[in-house]
Amino acid sequence: MSTAAAPKISFVSLGCPKALVDSERIITRLRAEGYELTKQHQGADLVIVNTCGFLDSAKQESLEHIGEALSENGKVIVTGCMGAQPDEITSRYSNLLAITGPQAYESVLDAVHKAAPPAHDPFVDLVPPQGIKLTPRHYAYLKISEGCSNRCSFCIIPQLRGDLVSRPINEVLREAEKLAKAGVKELLVISQDTSAYGLDIKYQPQLWQDREIRTRFFELAKELGDMGIWVRMHYVYPYPHVDEIIPLMAEGKILPYLDIPFQHASPNVLKAMKRPGNQEKTLERIKKWRSICPDLAIRSTFIVGFPGETDEDFDMLLDWIEDAQIERAGCFKFEPVKGAVANDLPGLVPEEVKEERWHQFMQTQQEVSADLLARKVGKTLPIIIDEMGSTIAKGRSQYDAPEIDGVVYVRTPKALSAGDIVNVEIEKSDEYDLHGRLV
Ligand code: SF4
Repeated sequence: MSTAAAPKISFVSLGCPKALVDSERIITRLRAEGYELTKQHQGADLVIVNTCGFLDSAKQESLEHIGEALSENGKVIVTGCMGAQPDEITSRYSNLLAITGPQAYESVLDAVHKAAPPAHDPFVDLVPPQGIKLTPRHYAYLKISEGCSNRCSFCIIPQLRGDLVSRPINEVLREAEKLAKAGVKELLVISQDTSAYGLDIKYQPQLWQDREIRTRFFELAKELGDMGIWVRMHYVYPYPHVDEIIPLMAEGKILPYLDIPFQHASPNVLKAMKRPGNQEKTLERIKKWRSICPDLAIRSTFIVGFPGETDEDFDMLLDWIEDAQIERAGCFKFEPVKGAVANDLPGLVPEEVKEERWHQFMQTQQEVSADLLARKVGKTLPIIIDEMGSTIAKGRSQYDAPEIDGVVYVRTPKALSAGDIVNVEIEKSDEYDLHGRLV
């Protein structure tokens, strides 16, 4: 048995939940090989920076983190979305150990092995069977596919991550089961296009618990819904077959929550954006879904100031927001991303107009959100606890995803633990959050 000290790696994880899952995979492999993780760049054997390259502002942040790692440590491996465009990194920093693209786990590991060979200790099992999670233990992201076969004109993810590659359903369910057994109470299903799951492999059936199950969105939702934990669906496009999972929500099998990035409501803008799914008549779809599952919560994101967006297009979006009454909506001002087709579209919207539209959007949605939250006052809701303070716990309802939606502040006479699911009577609401007491 080797007595050499385990090499220490400092890890910086930037970007979206999908990048977080990549970080977890790399860290799991590192821990399995005996590496130690540290939060300090100084004193580490090397630093890995998992970058985000989606927006120019995110690239800037990634470059700053790389610079910081270089000055504090000097040995740096860069991976993630920005790694797919190495020129932008090497033009600023020429002394990196390696640059690898997104999901290039093997290349990251190879670079680590070269710079800091692992200290083998076969007697110590360093990794729990469910892998290493960067999220708190009571919730975890479940990544069901990589890449995306759509070609939205403002997005370069398909260039960075390639076309859709779905994980076989039995592999995904095995991971979900391990997580549930390890104490995870809430699974957040993520991908670039969750409702397209399995399309690339023609919904190929796989053997799971002596049954053949198709690698498909509905089957996935159904099987996960039988695991007895909260299951939340993110990045769903409104393809017709999304209708199939609404009854599972009504039955309480999966959470009554859909994260659908609508991005706009005007057919002209949606066309210029080249958005997937049946994006017209979304108001009718939402109405139909709510007739089956009345407490369905919808969260979405929108872009204002997209090239060619007229005052009429924007008014259409505001009307949609008022009519659709969706619980949560984030809004971004259009920002050109290097390499995106949308950059060459005519009709650039001036910055001050974008700014004005953004404020109008936020104001309108804030009123909708405040009104919907006020309707929860007086109800008793199951709340999952994320954190315990001295007398107030912070948690979330079934209608709130971690990190992006609102929270519920819970007055409690007894200490609660992260992951507890408790009943809370809602006493008060504001624009984004709820306040209540443990019952
Ligand atoms: S669906 Fe569109 S925005 Fe989302 S990753 Fe694919 S191409 Fe990009």
